[in-house]
Amino acid sequence: MDGERMDYLEGLNDRQRDAVLHTEGPLLIMAGAGSGKTRVVTHKIAYLIEEKGVYPSSILAITFTNKAASEMKDRVKELIDADVDKMWMGTFHSICVRILRRDIDRLGYDRSFTIYDRDDQITLMKECIKELNIDKTMYKESAVLSKISSLKDASIEPDSYINENYSEFRERTIGELYALYEKKLKKYNALDFDDLIIKTVVLLKENKDILEFYQNKFKHVFVDEYQDTNKIQYEFARLLSGKHENICVVGDSDQSIYGWRGADIGNILNFEKDFENSTVILLEQNYRSTPNILNVANKVIGNNFERQAKNLWTNREEGEKVVYEQLDYSEEEGHFIANKIHQLIYKGYKLKDIAVLYRTNAQSRTFEESFMKEELPYKIVGGLRFYDRKEVKDVIAYLKVLQNPNDNISIKRIINTPRRGVGLATISKIEEYAIEHGESFYGALLSLDEIDSLNARAKNSVSPFIDTMNVLMAKKEVMGLKDFIEEMISSIGYIEELKKEDTIEARTRIENIKEFISVALNFENINEDATLEDFLASVSLLSDVDKTVDENNLITLMTIHSAKGLEFKVVFVVGLEEGLFPSFRSLESDEDIEEERRLMYVALTRAEEVLFITNAKRRTIYGNTNYTLPSRFIEEMGDTIEKPEVKKANIQSKSADESLIRIKDFTMPNLNYNPAMMKKRNDGDKEVNIGDKVKHKKWGIGTVAMVKEREGDKELTIAFDKGGLKRLLLSIAPIEII
Ligand code: ATP
Ligand code: MG
Repeated sequence: MDGERMDYLEGLNDRQRDAVLHTEGPLLIMAGAGSGKTRVVTHKIAYLIEEKGVYPSSILAITFTNKAASEMKDRVKELIDADVDKMWMGTFHSICVRILRRDIDRLGYDRSFTIYDRDDQITLMKECIKELNIDKTMYKESAVLSKISSLKDASIEPDSYINENYSEFRERTIGELYALYEKKLKKYNALDFDDLIIKTVVLLKENKDILEFYQNKFKHVFVDEYQDTNKIQYEFARLLSGKHENICVVGDSDQSIYGWRGADIGNILNFEKDFENSTVILLEQNYRSTPNILNVANKVIGNNFERQAKNLWTNREEGEKVVYEQLDYSEEEGHFIANKIHQLIYKGYKLKDIAVLYRTNAQSRTFEESFMKEELPYKIVGGLRFYDRKEVKDVIAYLKVLQNPNDNISIKRIINTPRRGVGLATISKIEEYAIEHGESFYGALLSLDEIDSLNARAKNSVSPFIDTMNVLMAKKEVMGLKDFIEEMISSIGYIEELKKEDTIEARTRIENIKEFISVALNFENINEDATLEDFLASVSLLSDVDKTVDENNLITLMTIHSAKGLEFKVVFVVGLEEGLFPSFRSLESDEDIEEERRLMYVALTRAEEVLFITNAKRRTIYGNTNYTLPSRFIEEMGDTIEKPEVKKANIQSKSADESLIRIKDFTMPNLNYNPAMMKKRNDGDKEVNIGDKVKHKKWGIGTVAMVKEREGDKELTIAFDKGGLKRLLLSIAPIEII
């Protein structure tokens, strides 16, 4: 008996063990990254089932990502031999979906509702902005959505928000967007992520029998990553644990990274208030990371004012120094990391030990490309691989046919995509003719008139396709790569068909096609006289998925947000640039910068043994190339990281000016991005270039870091010696070029 107990009580320090043995009443565990909070939860679940005879089906454990849930389940499975699949373990969202699928009809909804993810929401919001004819430069979808999300969280209805803010144009407009957004969700029989929880709480509150059923069922409730719960999630957890009050929440206020989505640190304070007799346990020893890694993370987070200092320590071996590498161009970040990964594998690391963490999803593509070229198998957590998307495959198939009309496979893929009324029977008759006459499929199409087995209607359905392809083949010879691809996409009517389809999914596809144009632009940037043939050769290599890869041994690519709670032996944190990480949105508010810093802390503390941080001096994203400044977080890391020489980063000091001047001198041959295009004549007939010095009335001397076209004006990003990084419009900014 003792031997068995050892399994789930051994491998815990005293405080962790206290937490596991505390099985009755509310418990709050607050502690830094890697201190074993999640481990306490798993061991406690194992202990409850094994020692206290609690049924797995009476346990509800809420984690922040699905991946974290499945890892937690696996860990419990390793500890005990019980039917752990009966536990309810998942995200707030997945658990709420489970409840709603059973009973949402009580709220007058259809049980077959669809769920809109973030991409769908953004597409839906675009639709709303367009429909209300609103200036889309003033209302960014993501910003409007997070506002709506916080309103939903606070149970504020669109109408009352509009009434309260009637005289505030911006707020009122957001209210109107909110109203339309809600209307459309209903019309499409869809719920967004916020709704999933809100509707569940309403369901539970309005239906005592359902509430009692779940309250009786769940004898123990766990919430991991508690710092990121918002009010409504907190309410949900409180409702469900209302009867037994055996609720155990664990978290770390330094890792609160969902403030923008309404996460509320106040929930930690509320917990102690709402649950009388709650116990609080603090953990201080970090078991995950080497001191070298922990030092960097502690140093960065130490710059946040709004925090309670923690005493996180480790007794692991010193480990390797954290390395910072600055690349010239964003595409090189991928090559650099691919090379490092080869070295690490040579040293004995496995692919699954390695993660690349980025701030935004759009960054993943360059890594995908490098890894494919280098034959490094990878997976993207939380998204389809770019080249696995149907629309991307379709566009590539068109290009293949235009390049090589004899590609029978590709032509059959596209002959009726978008739909042209070409039926399967027609296709097989053309194919028969081709075989009979020893021609390719396309060759047979060119002799369409002679295919007697086809009736006039069938021929009419095919001939516009042949005409379009013939015209495109001629254009291919005279147009540049990117322009040609744009032309092709518009002439085949692919986007029109998607527009007609008029669903959120279709709009997401349209965006992916546009991102494909970015791929072509990039290719043209780095390859002089890029031909379609070269481009296709490179793309085919990328899209050729090696199906024999071991699914359990892949490099992980993911956003930092989805990496929360996870750990990897080797971590690359990439894109540390002002405006990317910290994000542009955050630059103007201290509060937002603090949240970005917590996000940085989360990223750094995922690493166990090896940690690299990287950035690039120039970056292409969404089809634009810009020069960048190193992230302020690099400067904050001070000498805890190994830096390449002369690559200091401090946007507020002289060194930034120096690096900008170097950037200015640096020219890249054959780059689509042309610094001359960035010159602007302002009222005084002055030109502004990257690297120019300016003087501002309030902020003093600064250096121009970026120049962007903005509706006939230029938007300047300037690093001021005193005021930090600011964005200004050239036509109205009180600046003087010196
Ligand atoms: P995060 O804040 O990032 O979610 P956490 O506090 O949940 O971190 P865990 O993931 O539970 O931390 O633990 C970090 C690592 O340390 C895990 O690999 C875990 O197995 C290990 N660990 C935790 N406690 C101990 C212990 N007492 N002895 C040995 N290893 C431990
Ligand atoms: Mg954890």
